[in-house]
Amino acid sequence: MAHQQLAAILNIRGAPLWSRAFYWTRGLPRYRAHHREHLEEVRRRLRRLPLIAIAGAGYDGAGVSACVRSGRAAGLLIAQLTAR
Ligand SMILES: Cc1cc2nc3c(=O)[nH]c(=O)nc-3n(C[C@H](O)[C@H](O)[C@H](O)COP(=O)(O)OP(=O)(O)OC[C@H]3O[C@@H](n4cnc5c(N)ncnc54)[C@H](O)[C@@H]3O)c2cc1C
Repeated sequence: MAHQQLAAILNIRGAPLWSRAFYWTRGLPRYRAHHREHLEEVRRRLRRLPLIAIAGAGYDGAGVSACVRSGRAAGLLIAQLTAR
């Protein structure tokens, strides 16, 4: 399928020399129901502890841009807590 689609985009004429399919069965997190509410509760509880922020695909979205946003927000939170 990948070859078929790329061949059209990149104008590839020959067949692949080799190909292999990889299955990333746990590659992306799958959030449970009420994930957002659970996360808000976890973050609320973490506020009781000093200098802890959570970020990444397991929390705020699995795409790279969501992970970057999540990491920046965590960094900002730590900076604010440190400045107090
Ligand atoms: C196969 C695949 C393809 C994907 N393709 C896309 C795509 O095309 N576009 C897109 O937007 N997203 C894509 N994603 C999703 C996206 O890449 C991930 O969700 C994102 O990179 C996760 O970022 P993260 O910072 O949460 O975790 P990670 O990028 O996994 O970073 C976690 C880091 O923590 C380190 N670490 C782990 N344990 C410890 C420890 N005990 N001590 C110190 N360090 C530790 C790891 O080495 C790693 O560097 C893809 C994901 C997969 C698996």
